[in-house]
Amino acid sequence: MSLPGVLERIAQAAQRAGRSPHEVRLVAVTKGHPVEEIREKVLAYGDFPLGESRVQEALPKMEALQAEWHFIGPLQTNKARFMPRFALVHSLDSLRLAQALNRVGEKEGRPLRVLVEVNLGREPQKHGFLEEDLPEALARIRDLPFLRVEGLMTVAPIAPEAVLRPLFARLSLLADRYRLRERSMGMSDDFELAVEEGATLVRVGRAVFAVD
Ligand SMILES: *Cc1c(COP(=O)(O)O)cnc(C)c1O
Repeated sequence: MSLPGVLERIAQAAQRAGRSPHEVRLVAVTKGHPVEEIREKVLAYGDFPLGESRVQEALPKMEALQAEWHFIGPLQTNKARFMPRFALVHSLDSLRLAQALNRVGEKEGRPLRVLVEVNLGREPQKHGFLEEDLPEALARIRDLPFLRVEGLMTVAPIAPEAVLRPLFARLSLLADRYRLRERSMGMSDDFELAVEEGATLVRVGRAVFAVD
């Protein structure tokens, strides 16, 4: 595809669902791609937020590129101290990490913006809270003064539309229930479905960088 192609697909999916395309932000996932390529294939088209899933890979790129960076991958508590450099952490997946991030926010003197990750596909190898654990987890995380919970995030399984669509709809419903604005869902293979089902942030890597 390419970034403009992805944007067009997002707009079409939004339209099919009766949503405004402005409700959806594209986070260009830049893992595995060097700075030059990110300039050429993403930033040439505008100031898109950039997503990285590993701290070691992200830090040098952040030095080189002025952008709104999002952290989207599994985060070890010992790397929590780097999170103030990111505008949004999508992958808050444990109470222990929440407490570590809260301490970092306190040191910074400002709350860190986070999304709470939900393992909706119930895959053992995936991160995130199980849905049944979400109410209590959210209550406890929202009690932490130096975190600002802005939404929910999920990494969906590789599955057909009949499985994915209800799963994305479920994340939207949960976000509504807890009065959370952001729903981070959808990747290269399924971002259109996610937009149709209410995504406000799609995290797209391969489709942005692929050459047609
Ligand atoms: C890599 C990654 C993406 C993007 O995946 P693509 O299939 O390249 O679009 C999205 N979210 C997370 C958490 C990722 O690690």
